[in-house]
Amino acid sequence: MTAPLCDQVRSRFDDYHDGLLSSELSESVKVHLLTCESCREEYGLLVACIGVIRRIEVPAVPPRTLRKIVDTLSHPPLPGPDLEHGLETI
Ligand SMILES: [Zn+2]
Repeated sequence: MTAPLCDQVRSRFDDYHDGLLSSELSESVKVHLLTCESCREEYGLLVACIGVIRRIEVPAVPPRTLRKIVDTLSHPPLPGPDLEHGLETI
C-alpha cells in the first residue's frame, strides 16, 4: 500500500528522469525521493531499466552504412515502367 503522494510522484518518474518537469515539480519529486525510501528504490529500478532499454535501442550502425541509408532515402530510385503500369491497372 502506497500513499497517494507516492503514486503521484511515481507517475512522474519518466518525465523527471528526462528533465521534462517544471522546476517546481522536479523539486518536489526530488524532495520526495530524499524522504521516501520505497520511492527511491522504485526510481532506482526505473533508471536502471531505462538505461538498459536505451542501450538496446541505440543502433550499432557504422557511419558509412548510415550515410548509404541517408543517400538512398534522399535519392530514391526512379519508379520503373513496371511500377507505372501496375498503378494504372489498380
Ligand atoms: Zn513515496
